[in-house]
Amino acid sequence: MSTSTLAQRLKRHIKAQGSITVSEYMLTCLGDQEAGYYMVQEPFGAKGDFITAPEISQMFGELIGVWCVSQWLAMEQHQPFILCEMGPGRGTLMQDLLRAAHQLSPAFTQAAIITMVETSPRLRDMQRQTLAHTDLNITWTDDLKTLPPLPLILVANELFDALPMRQYVKKQSRFHERLITLDENDNFIFTTSDYSIDAAHLPADHQSAPESAIFEAAPARNSLMQQISDHIAQFKGSALIIDYGYCHTGYGDTLQAIRKHRFDDIFAHPGEADITSHVDFLSLQEIASKSGLNTATQTQGEFLLNMGLLDRAGQLGRGKTPAQQQQLQADVERLAAPDQMGDLFKVLSISSSSFSPLPYDVSASVNDQ
Ligand code: SAH
Repeated sequence: MSTSTLAQRLKRHIKAQGSITVSEYMLTCLGDQEAGYYMVQEPFGAKGDFITAPEISQMFGELIGVWCVSQWLAMEQHQPFILCEMGPGRGTLMQDLLRAAHQLSPAFTQAAIITMVETSPRLRDMQRQTLAHTDLNITWTDDLKTLPPLPLILVANELFDALPMRQYVKKQSRFHERLITLDENDNFIFTTSDYSIDAAHLPADHQSAPESAIFEAAPARNSLMQQISDHIAQFKGSALIIDYGYCHTGYGDTLQAIRKHRFDDIFAHPGEADITSHVDFLSLQEIASKSGLNTATQTQGEFLLNMGLLDRAGQLGRGKTPAQQQQLQADVERLAAPDQMGDLFKVLSISSSSFSPLPYDVSASVNDQ
């Protein structure tokens, strides 16, 4: 099917060393240094493959900025603290977040050690360009482990879906890992491992799952969540994890490829399509609560409406043309309506302090630009 060099490389690897896991396939397609999707492609926007919430409207990053300031106040305005975004894409969310936060509290941006965790050198350059106009000091790292021992406020939008996950298929009452191999014509196909996983790693109801049911597990996501939770439990702070996903562990195949705003065959364009899966928010929330943190999962619609999305849209629309107001209305719906991003996307908030009521009337305090 595909003629990309990454496809050829993957095929040579499978021929030489045998089948690979779904996790290895995702990791290579997205993160390969020479040909991985985030390393070489232009994912975002109308000309790219998909549009993320910060790219839809400035309101998204602004309201997250308000959340960050409210969490900073709840932890008694600790100075200094780390303001970290993981997987910042084009840097748009951080730009909007900083603008809104600075207007609400210049002390917040002054106290912030702004750190971007990004593995793609190409996207790092883009983030630098987006944020070039701010006179704040921003540093980049590719690993959360390098953060200094200080309170942390962390935001990650559409990062976890891009971290690899593994799939297990039920065959005669046991779950075997789903693997990727080649058919006689050298096309990628799924197969299953001979070995099955221990029932201890499966949901309690696994015995009643039907034959061929697929169970997804994401150790890489869980360990990142553990790392974030450990840092916050030890040094204080809060985090906001936003992504498409579900709040109850179940069965089903959520592996997907997106290319040019359409679903693509996951084997058709390795390295040229975004390959992701839905995020298991229940597992992530459990990890944070077991670390002793306060946690809450809401839908993106609930979160944004609670944060004052409608007021903010009203304020931005004041004095604008009917066409601009219609655009704002469309953006609000795209972000928060249940049949658009509102229900599918979830927001997991975690914090070492309680989730305090918002201290600001957002619509009154943040200017347009
Ligand atoms: N948050 C942005 C971009 C989402 S796309 C937005 O909402 O528009 C995923 C981002 O995560 C990209 O910037 C990608 O390069 C980055 N990324 C992928 N794996 C990563 C990892 N392991 N650590 C840090 N960043 C990663």
